[in-house]
Amino acid sequence: MNKSYQEIRKHIDSIRLIDTHEHLPPESERVNKVVDVLSQFYLHYASSDLISAGMSPEDLVYIKDTKIPLDYRWAIFESWWEKIRNTGYSRCMEIAARDLYGVDGINSETYKQLSRKMMERNKEGLYKWVLHEKAGIDVCVLDTLREDYDVDSDLFVPVLRVSEYASPRNKKDLEVLGKQFSNPIHNLGDYINLVKGRFDALEGMVVAVKIALAYDRSIFFEKRTFNEAEESLNKIFKTKGFSWSPIEGTEYNELVQDGPGREELLPLQDYLVHLSIQEASRRGLPIQIHTGLHEGNKNIISNSNPELLVNLFLEYGEAKFDIFHGSWPYSSQLSALAKNFQNVYIDMCWMHIISPSRAMSALDEWLDEVPVNKIMGFGGDFLCVEGSYGHSVMARDNVARVLAKKVNDGVYVMDEAKKYANWILRDNPKRLFFPEK
Ligand SMILES: [Zn+2]
Repeated sequence: MNKSYQEIRKHIDSIRLIDTHEHLPPESERVNKVVDVLSQFYLHYASSDLISAGMSPEDLVYIKDTKIPLDYRWAIFESWWEKIRNTGYSRCMEIAARDLYGVDGINSETYKQLSRKMMERNKEGLYKWVLHEKAGIDVCVLDTLREDYDVDSDLFVPVLRVSEYASPRNKKDLEVLGKQFSNPIHNLGDYINLVKGRFDALEGMVVAVKIALAYDRSIFFEKRTFNEAEESLNKIFKTKGFSWSPIEGTEYNELVQDGPGREELLPLQDYLVHLSIQEASRRGLPIQIHTGLHEGNKNIISNSNPELLVNLFLEYGEAKFDIFHGSWPYSSQLSALAKNFQNVYIDMCWMHIISPSRAMSALDEWLDEVPVNKIMGFGGDFLCVEGSYGHSVMARDNVARVLAKKVNDGVYVMDEAKKYANWILRDNPKRLFFPEK
């Protein structure tokens, strides 16, 4: 293992990554905040492990509140940290602490020093230092609803999020949407114009479309007619019920429209998803779809089984579907889909930290099963830039270990293994998101 691993790892460390997926806020937002290890490193992912281990949601809020002295928060955190320190999420954050801030892991001896060093670095240039210099990332495909990301624009290119317009629940939502995009919605024709208008407005700016609806519903997007969708939309307009809710910080109440039930709105949402796929593939934009594990706790995993997408793969042969998170824990199903369908790509974003061991075993299998041009090896998928770094280290290491095993097994020669590393970590995502014109 060792000699091949070392040679491949050295090669992989020299590859400039194309990061298929991040959620990072604008750098200005991060550097204007007071930060410490607990407020940043446990924003998400490891926080879900803390809850899973048994921590109360109130304690989770408490440990992240920088207005409370760090010592108090550490005292609550420490015993829970011991319980989750084994997971990929936690390992990722300890790598970041060690490599970026030079402390020996995250523990009672280091947390103060680590937090101090984070504050020292928390100024303009942080993202460039972490992403470009330390993580060796050339560019990140950024999943954000924000329009002000462009301060860091050489680091990021955005996607169009279908959920920005595809999840109205009531009249108020439709009104807000219509105002936001200067396209009032009174019928399905208006709605279609709004969606097409978004694609037109963002042409040349976005490099993909993102569908993350698996958090709220099954990803089986049924084929719907115009009439079915319009009937579903009209259910919102026909709603008579309403209630009042206080407007925060004022003495006024706001009229809140009740909406129809979720199930009744599925035809509209299905229709909008199909429309988005049509618009995306017409413009050559890949479609990123969340499958597999949901961030947070208490979601329904079977809602995000990639097998539910087969009708889309069959109908939209000309589209390119970039299937997220290696569909963990449905990685074998994804393999069959990517092997079977020309338009299905595997994206390992988030996966190396969900399960380092399953990321490796899945990649090992995919390399036996799926054409290598269809595997994207890394997407940091973080809100905290240090997490993206830790993840990049784990991704490089996992890919190196898998390829070294293949070389040692006599499956590939060294040069072939290095070429596949280039493809998986850089060339494949480059071809998918930045095709040469
Ligand atoms: Zn994500």
